Amino acid sequence: MSEIHLLSTEQLITGLQDKQFSSLELTEHYLKRIDALDGKINSFITHTSETARAQAQAADEMRAQGDKRRLLGIPMAHKDIFCTQGVLTTCGSKMLHNFVSPYNATIVSNIDKAGMISLGKLNMDEFAMGSDNSSSYYGTVQNPWNLERVPGGSSGGSAAAVAAGFVPVATGSDTGGSIRQPASFCGLTGIKPTYGRVSRFGMIAYASSLDQAGSMGKSAKDCAYLLQPMIGHDPRDATSIKHDMPDYVQDLNDAEAAAGDKPFEGLRIGVAKEYFSEGLDSEVEQAVRAALKQYEDLGATIVEVNITDPEITLATYYMLAPAEASSNLSRFDGVRFGYRCENPTDLIDLYTRSRSEGFGPEVQRRILTGTYALSAGYFDAYYTKAQRIRRLIVKDFDEAFADCDVIASPTSPTAAYKLSEDLDPASMYLGDVYTIAVNLAGLPALSQPVGLTSDGLPIGLQLIGQYWQESKLLSTAHLFQQHTDHHLQHSLIAKETV
Ligand code: GLN
Repeated sequence: MSEIHLLSTEQLITGLQDKQFSSLELTEHYLKRIDALDGKINSFITHTSETARAQAQAADEMRAQGDKRRLLGIPMAHKDIFCTQGVLTTCGSKMLHNFVSPYNATIVSNIDKAGMISLGKLNMDEFAMGSDNSSSYYGTVQNPWNLERVPGGSSGGSAAAVAAGFVPVATGSDTGGSIRQPASFCGLTGIKPTYGRVSRFGMIAYASSLDQAGSMGKSAKDCAYLLQPMIGHDPRDATSIKHDMPDYVQDLNDAEAAAGDKPFEGLRIGVAKEYFSEGLDSEVEQAVRAALKQYEDLGATIVEVNITDPEITLATYYMLAPAEASSNLSRFDGVRFGYRCENPTDLIDLYTRSRSEGFGPEVQRRILTGTYALSAGYFDAYYTKAQRIRRLIVKDFDEAFADCDVIASPTSPTAAYKLSEDLDPASMYLGDVYTIAVNLAGLPALSQPVGLTSDGLPIGLQLIGQYWQESKLLSTAHLFQQHTDHHLQHSLIAKETV
């Protein structure tokens, strides 16, 4: 029982079915760990322990009465970007320090309906803007592999909580890499689905044309389990798309059953030299190339492809994402909900001070850049031009996918770094260089662990797929994980028993 948190989601499901433990015992185990160890890493903003216990008890009763939902009674936690009815939803910001959502995000209801138990809300960069969780109003998050390092961002709390063994799986959101990069920094698998696959209703908007929710877990199969209840068309999100509904876990099982000793026979992996550019850490490059060699040894063919110059992609993203953010965040005005300044002298003072006091520096920087890009006189030069380049990025991916089935790259140019005062925003933005193109094109992509640096920090490999091919990505990573053990390594905190 003391190492139950090292089990996979599937092992937890079997454990519940075979009555090795009850959902209440499982929930208590995780709650005890969070209680004893989260002081070291600060991954939670809000705990929902009491409702979790009640739900777990109810789940045990339903199971006893024959309820067969496979995720019934399995604990998880949500990134604090998802609205949770009756529960504080801060989005990592002082602006929403008192916001108790009156409704649930669609994915929150769906995960509830699947019978999962939410243990609370996870820390994140303010309004999901950042790559190391340092912009959270609720404090930085420490990486469970090395407490002096960042967990990545913006889903840093989600990644840290899973890597610490506080929950088996967690939700995240990804606008420019926020699921994949923290997954990579914390030795996890994390998937951002095709844009439109998962409803954005109730997910606090950063850049609406790029935002997409997804799942994080220790393995591709863990991600498949949590992603399943998240997907599907939602009439309350105009950009959610009606599409066939795969059963991811079944697809992974089928892929495994069909696999011989060369499971990747016929799989063409595209590798772009643009993704192995200047600035890529040599240990990261080595681990990624070694993983590609393992894919080849298992039957895959590596083909060279070209994608848009990442520097151009980076500039495009940092024009469009702030522009959309400046528009989305205009709703936080101190009037209807959230933070309101003390003693405003008039309406303008109320708006100005509520926003200046409620938003942190990174969010203000994005609102300013975005508003500038959208202003009359600069709109064509910046925003329209960036939109045109976005079309070219899509076209370049289309052409690349004519020659390959998936594209592989490092997830991030470095492993988890130390927070330092001198990390200027532009250098932090550079860390997103391999992940953002995917969001601009709306493609699905995942990050999977492929080894450790000499300092013992996890390294991630990114796999990008064609539209709607989440199953292909997950089963590719899953088959790789059947032959390797990178995903079975545990962080320092996960190894602690309480
Ligand atoms: N690091 C990127 C940014 O700050 C991506 C964030 C995200 O995906 N939410 O914009």
